[in-house]
Amino acid sequence: MQPQFKDRSAQSKMLLVLALGSALGILPFTIYRFVQQDWYVAILDSIVVIGMSALFLYVYKTDDVKRASLVLILIALVANVSSFYLKGINQINWTYPAMLAAYYVMSPKKGMIVNFVMLSFYLPKLFVLLDFVSFATVIITIFITNILAYVFSSGLKNQEIILKKLASEDYLTSTGNRRSLDAAMNKLYKTLKNHDKIASIILLDLDHFKQVNDTYGHIKGDDVLVRLSELLMNFFNGKDEIFRYGGEEFLVICRNISKVKAYKLSEAFRVIVKNNIVIDKKQQTISLGVCEYIKEESIDEWIHRVDMALYQAKKQGRDRTISA
Ligand code: GH3
Ligand code: MG
Ligand code: MG
Repeated sequence: MQPQFKDRSAQSKMLLVLALGSALGILPFTIYRFVQQDWYVAILDSIVVIGMSALFLYVYKTDDVKRASLVLILIALVANVSSFYLKGINQINWTYPAMLAAYYVMSPKKGMIVNFVMLSFYLPKLFVLLDFVSFATVIITIFITNILAYVFSSGLKNQEIILKKLASEDYLTSTGNRRSLDAAMNKLYKTLKNHDKIASIILLDLDHFKQVNDTYGHIKGDDVLVRLSELLMNFFNGKDEIFRYGGEEFLVICRNISKVKAYKLSEAFRVIVKNNIVIDKKQQTISLGVCEYIKEESIDEWIHRVDMALYQAKKQGRDRTISA
């Protein structure tokens, strides 16, 4: 099943529009070249139209934006340079949209590199064809176009990074938020359903945390949450699989890990927290539940079982792990 247009990434949408736009935009010129019996350009234009149409279908079907971006830029580069050598200086006008397209589908740095490669192909012929002022004009306008596009696309890229962080991370602890937990669990669920893989989840909760807040204040409580998340990120290698599930509850996804191994990890982590978070000479403890995915159960059922395991850990006296 292909994703719908509105559900695609900005890059995927851009590629679809650019591929279809170039195919349709160049088609009339292709027909015109055939009518004029300008065979070389007609064939070159046909290759571009067919290439772009194929690319459109490829992105539409696979959503593989990485490979498609590269192919799109390669087609644009080869087509531009060849048409320039075949038809002469008028074709230079096509360079500007092609250079802008590079920034649409690639990172700013790669876009700039590709464009300077393209320019280096033009230079020898431009130098021969044009007088000094015209040569300088072309070079300077290409340069300005690239600088403007670079600044604009870097700005967009930075904003995208900030927005992604805001949308996916918990502000206090920098662990994943509920939105990214849902996304990660849905993705994992598909893998578990369709492949013969295992996974476990660990749900952990600070013991008697309300007392910490009540005794030492909310700011101290926040410090404890930050420290706990730092320990989590160190112990579980990075933050991709660690999520703030609720106020003082965190969920860890352990891919390819059985409940026996997850239990051992939980117990090791429990001791680390005890030894590393000490408030007024009192060790801060956590309780944990672990639970391995059982075939056919839903995500909600899986999370419910780990919740019950954590509940049991609390009920049996806290500072322990219970395996569901
Ligand atoms: P238990 O061992 O049963 O888990 O007891 P508890 O006191 O930890 O649990 P309870 O659910 O009674 O209280 C949770 C506390 O966590 C209450 C709430 O003020 C605190 N909390 C939740 N989110 C935050 C936060 O972002 N910052 C701070 N400082 N405290 C928080
Ligand atoms: Mg608690
Ligand atoms: Mg709680």
